[in-house]
Amino acid sequence: MAAVPAPDLDAQVNQVLSEVRTEIDVARRHRVFCNRNLRMDKVEMIGFDMDYTLALYHQARMERLSIELTLNKLIDGRGYPEEIRHLNYDPQWAIRGLMVDRKLGNVFKLDRHSHVGRCYHGTRKLTPDERKQFYRSEKVDFGSDRYAWIDTLFGLPEVVMYITLVDWLESKGAVGEDGYDKLFGDIRLSIDEAHRDDTLKSVIKKAVPEYIIKDPDLPETLHKLRSSGKKLFLLTNSLFDYTDVVMTYLLDGARLPYPSWRHYFDVVIVGGGKPGFFNEQRPFVGIDPHTGRELPGEVKSLSRDRVYQGGNIVGFEHMTGIRGENVLYIGDHIYGDILRLRKGYMWRTAMIIQELDTELGVGERLDGQLRDLELLDRRRRNLESEIDFQALRLKKMQRLFDEANLADADAATAQLSPHLRSRLEDAKRQTKAALDSLRDRARLMAEECELLEDATERAFNGYWGSVLREGNENSRFGEQCGDYADLYTSRVSNFLAYSPLRYFRAPRRAMPHEI
Ligand code: IMP
Ligand code: MG
Repeated sequence: MAAVPAPDLDAQVNQVLSEVRTEIDVARRHRVFCNRNLRMDKVEMIGFDMDYTLALYHQARMERLSIELTLNKLIDGRGYPEEIRHLNYDPQWAIRGLMVDRKLGNVFKLDRHSHVGRCYHGTRKLTPDERKQFYRSEKVDFGSDRYAWIDTLFGLPEVVMYITLVDWLESKGAVGEDGYDKLFGDIRLSIDEAHRDDTLKSVIKKAVPEYIIKDPDLPETLHKLRSSGKKLFLLTNSLFDYTDVVMTYLLDGARLPYPSWRHYFDVVIVGGGKPGFFNEQRPFVGIDPHTGRELPGEVKSLSRDRVYQGGNIVGFEHMTGIRGENVLYIGDHIYGDILRLRKGYMWRTAMIIQELDTELGVGERLDGQLRDLELLDRRRRNLESEIDFQALRLKKMQRLFDEANLADADAATAQLSPHLRSRLEDAKRQTKAALDSLRDRARLMAEECELLEDATERAFNGYWGSVLREGNENSRFGEQCGDYADLYTSRVSNFLAYSPLRYFRAPRRAMPHEI
């Protein structure tokens, strides 16, 4: 294969011209956000995941296809009746970060403290009492097999199907013992099979533009990073045949010095088996890029002319000689791409959150409403503390009053003077009236807050609200993005606006006492 293309002069000029001086120069939707300071000049190598990172999917079409193929498998292979094909599978029923309770047939969203927020059984919303009964009376182990955490966009069709089919199962009166668990297992296995046996990929490969978004800025972004002297690598769980088709569509022929997608990368690893790549010792296997066949022999170095399958992080660092903080890996999957790296290795991480585009768009549109909500919430908290204060005061007055009455009954004890007694009575009456009025105001305010909250949440998603928030808190998913990803952004090409030497700085985070 051709040697590394020399950075051309045009690109260097473009690079200088396109660099931004301040964050304000970049529209919010295209910004790269920073959770943890990262100096790009220290990064020598940048790795990319492919699916939902370099290759963003047309989500609605992808979900329709996944559902259709999974239904085929449920009907043809697992004995489900034809009628389930004709149910309404509404994509609004799923967002990233939901948790499935396989035992009870529920789906819910968690806040950052892992408290269960909104929860649905089929399409029926559970009441607060039901939620409390199921998930607050004892400690819940969300890591157990009973729960499935939906943290990739590939997982959304599972939720939509589960919610729809729980309703269907109940309408048949056919739940049976372990019925909800079996239903989720059947959906999971069918989708898994569709991914593994080429059912899904053979359709996408025949119509790539229908399913994958071609980002016109992607080639330039990769080129800019290369031109600044960084090495690039691809590390995907997809196998070579699929990777080749998708990457060809995304990159081939876009820039002269790069006739093929492989010219952009110094190392290409397919079938990486993440997260196993980061915590197991699987060997690298050479793949002939022309035939896709495995090559014999142990892999002792990583060459640009080859493609590799499998492998592990230790071998990778050893063979490239680049490690730890000098590597930045960009992926979309908290568990597969990001979390292992943060827990076990020093690689820096950037997370692609495709939903950020919509989340920011809605956030901007609702800016006024969100501010109103914040203000209302602050007023409500003040009001509540005023109520607490007055209630305590009333209690104290009542206690004094009771003591005075007791003293009245016991002639030996000193009595309260009539003047003070009447003042105490007046104050008690006034405090009680004030408390009633405060409580009325608080109730109205709570209703107003709820209405406004509902309206804003619905603008994100009618059933679940925002992906990154739950009520006043970050959602568990939002919190994990904050905890584990050093940077996050909606697409890889957002890096184009920034210098490859940029010092990304995290904003100062205020603690509640500082606000
Ligand atoms: P990556 O994001 O580029 O690492 O690739 C993700 C790969 O995982 C794609 O090839 C998907 O088809 C595959 N994948 C996603 N969900 C499943 C599943 O449930 N079972 C098996 N493979 C999956
Ligand atoms: Mg991915």
